[in-house]
Amino acid sequence: MATTMRVAQVGRPKAPFEIVERPMPTPGPGTVRIAVQACGICHSDTFTKDGLFPGIAYPRVPGHEVAGVIDAIGPDVTNWKVGQRVGVGWNGGYCGKCDPCRRGDLFACITGQVTGITFDGGYATHMIAPISAVARMPDALAPADAAPLMCAGITTFNALRNSGARPGDVVAVLGLGGLGHLGVQFAARMGFHTVAIARGPDKSALAKELGAAVYLDTKAVDAGAELQKLGGAAAILATATSGEAMSAVQGGLAINGTMLVIGAVDSLSVSPLPLILGRRSIKGWSAGTAIDSEDTLTFSVRNRVRSMNETFPLERVEDAYARMLSGEARFRVVMTIA
Ligand SMILES: [Zn+2]
Ligand SMILES: [Zn+2]
Repeated sequence: MATTMRVAQVGRPKAPFEIVERPMPTPGPGTVRIAVQACGICHSDTFTKDGLFPGIAYPRVPGHEVAGVIDAIGPDVTNWKVGQRVGVGWNGGYCGKCDPCRRGDLFACITGQVTGITFDGGYATHMIAPISAVARMPDALAPADAAPLMCAGITTFNALRNSGARPGDVVAVLGLGGLGHLGVQFAARMGFHTVAIARGPDKSALAKELGAAVYLDTKAVDAGAELQKLGGAAAILATATSGEAMSAVQGGLAINGTMLVIGAVDSLSVSPLPLILGRRSIKGWSAGTAIDSEDTLTFSVRNRVRSMNETFPLERVEDAYARMLSGEARFRVVMTIA
């Protein structure tokens, strides 16, 4: 057994990544050690890289799109085994004792554990994870394919399946980037009449290839009006990084329709009258917990949902991170760990 591990850590906010050797950690009670095989790079890793999240202790290892294999378990761990294939996402586990946990809102646990933020994440050969943060990874899924599903995937999958939309309903996905290209696939496979919305005519072929029945180019048409011609959207999954784009499509909601905001834009303008008259709503959605990740991975295997990735070795973390930040990646950046 190796006595050291390699991590790509951030020494202080906005500092470059440093690849360092650390002593191999031993998992304590309630935790497992994971030999990381792949880790996706998410835009939310900027929280750690730039110190945008309150209370981060540095040095810190980012990474919450983790896929790997358990290689050691804590002394009291009985439900996980060495050799088991697993993933870890944004939700870094929960206590099971606080009031939100007692009400079943595990995602809102007051301990606020977040992988790669409150404890070291997957930009590493190894990491320690609380067992409440660990999801089973199906055998049929390669680690680099599973990794982006642990944040971009679960967020879109879980938002859509909790949107209230039913098979056959019109569901729109706004934005065709890292989140949107998965959202369109999930929506289509869930049996929704899926409408992809983005800017420019060039994305039409991709949208159709991903499973969209209709593509709306916001440069050419009023997407809200077009959705109304289809009967209105029971749900709009708003992944875009522009508040203006989100505000512009709200007119496309059906009666009782919901716009689920998963892109963290600065602000959003809302027209109250259509909300009131049509009992429409606009709500946020947070990814989910480990069991939701498991459902995401299983659904993806069974229904052939696949993230399109650009891969880099861990040693090229700086290039990989810059590629994610550029917004040019098609569509998720994943580091593979040898
Ligand atoms: Zn993320
Ligand atoms: Zn709790």
